[in-house]
Amino acid sequence: MEDILREGLAALGVTATEEQIGTLAAYGRRMLAANEVTNLTAIRDPAETARLHFLDSAALLTMADFSGKAVADVGSGAGFPGVPLRVLRPDVRLTCLDSVGKKMDFVRQTCADLGLGDVTCLWGRAEEMPQLREQFDVAVSRAVAELPLLAELCLPLVKPGGLFLAMKKPDCDEEAARGDFAVRTLGGRIREIRRYTLPGTDVVHAVVVVEKIKPAPPQYPRRWAQIKKKPLLG
Ligand code: SAM
Repeated sequence: MEDILREGLAALGVTATEEQIGTLAAYGRRMLAANEVTNLTAIRDPAETARLHFLDSAALLTMADFSGKAVADVGSGAGFPGVPLRVLRPDVRLTCLDSVGKKMDFVRQTCADLGLGDVTCLWGRAEEMPQLREQFDVAVSRAVAELPLLAELCLPLVKPGGLFLAMKKPDCDEEAARGDFAVRTLGGRIREIRRYTLPGTDVVHAVVVVEKIKPAPPQYPRRWAQIKKKPLLG
């Protein structure tokens, strides 16, 4: 895993020390071991883990300045994309949150074991955490929900002036167009869609970059049942 990470991070233009590469690989190995007993990820191959989890997450570092930022990883699962961001940029103040407790238990314990004890792991639903409202400079999220719904989970957490980075498949233009009303309703503005190729593969992914320009109206987020039943579609 180390070689793939070293070469891939260099190809992305993301600086990393040998210690950071070692920490990423150790995290990946622990995740694959834990995955034997707990369902954390569908990816079971170490090389694929390095590329599709770690390099994919690290690509976010080429899209925004994370230095010193408070970052929320919404629906973090086994810690992606948040944990690689924290490993590679140690001054990131990371909060991972997920509605599945055993996933947060894995991230909390593994981070503590690998010297990342400052990572906060919260078990719960993003739309049920009013204490986190407008607490973050950046919200990141991968593979959690379609943008019209995801925007309601993520944008209320972001301070005005902050960013929401939604990691998506490359053919996300139509989803972004459908999410535009929700984004605007929640105080955001889609700035751009950035596409990138994962080093060592021909896999292209995308990030919808959303700026938070004003506070989200207080009636949002709604309960999940409402978000799902009546997404903000205009
Ligand atoms: N982001 C991780 C990744 O890319 O590997 C995990 C993706 S997994 C497909 C989606 C995760 O989102 C699940 O772990 C699920 O529990 C979590 N999730 C879904 N809805 C959520 C919500 N409203 N609040 C918090 N977590 C949520």
